[in-house]
Amino acid sequence: MRRSLLQIALAGLLALSAPNVRAETLEDDLKGLTEEQIGDTVEFAFGNALFFLFHEAGHMLVSEFDLPVLGREEDAVDTLSTLLLLEAGADVFETALIDSVDGWTLSAEASEAAEHEQILWDAHGLDRQRAFNMVCLMVGKDAEKFTESADDLELPAGRRQECVNEYQKAHASWFGVLKPHVRNDDQKSKFTITYKPAKNNDLKDYADLVKEAQVLEILQELVSGLYKLDDGIKLTAAECGEPNAYWSAGEREVTYCYELMQWHAQAIARYFKENGESAEEEKQEETKPGLKFVFGKATARQ
Ligand SMILES: [Zn+2]
Repeated sequence: MRRSLLQIALAGLLALSAPNVRAETLEDDLKGLTEEQIGDTVEFAFGNALFFLFHEAGHMLVSEFDLPVLGREEDAVDTLSTLLLLEAGADVFETALIDSVDGWTLSAEASEAAEHEQILWDAHGLDRQRAFNMVCLMVGKDAEKFTESADDLELPAGRRQECVNEYQKAHASWFGVLKPHVRNDDQKSKFTITYKPAKNNDLKDYADLVKEAQVLEILQELVSGLYKLDDGIKLTAAECGEPNAYWSAGEREVTYCYELMQWHAQAIARYFKENGESAEEEKQEETKPGLKFVFGKATARQ
């Protein structure tokens, strides 16, 4: 459902874009992809945006409620955001998890291909580890539903067995410390949502897409009714100068950067161009079954 709404939004955006005004836009990034791949690209970028926003919401809950964090906060918050998405009880959030496991794989491949030095001092785990930890919680909750993601990562059978326990432990500890903060009334915390305009022409379509996808409203909807957060938290989408997302405790603000939507869309579009069937080929060979992509959701639709 989400996907078709997004596709309508995307079709609208592409129709509105004046090709001479915007140099390298979303339209250029998607050129040569089949219609299905365009849908998958938008959904993939959207799913990853949701995961990043929930990761920042994890930092928000830790800082607003002064929750105890044993071990590295980044790992803890990845676990928390995965649990929040798993427990949210809608397909769109499960798809977001599958997309973000693929997102970590893509970013690991991108940095390996660029022969970047692995930044071992970074507070975040390495991208592949983040994917493994997430997928373990996912199959720990529902082995059948997420088996394809685990297979794609070649998660060993032995580890899968332990994942049930890992998921249950993580669930009990996180929802245990959060319990005193759960709302038991019908009220909702009041957040301030802002989509700032993008100045960079390359980002304008992405800024529109982030707004159309209502990612901030989705986060607000889920979190504001669940926990007794004080009013006034800001949820902001903006041009930041880098593909990232942040929680600022001082400002009480979650920021999602348009560059991150662009990064994920470009990365998956590149993947499709290098590994998939092009729009030209699709036209010529309508009857031929589609290629099997490594990525979970693309495979699921075959
Ligand atoms: Zn973080």
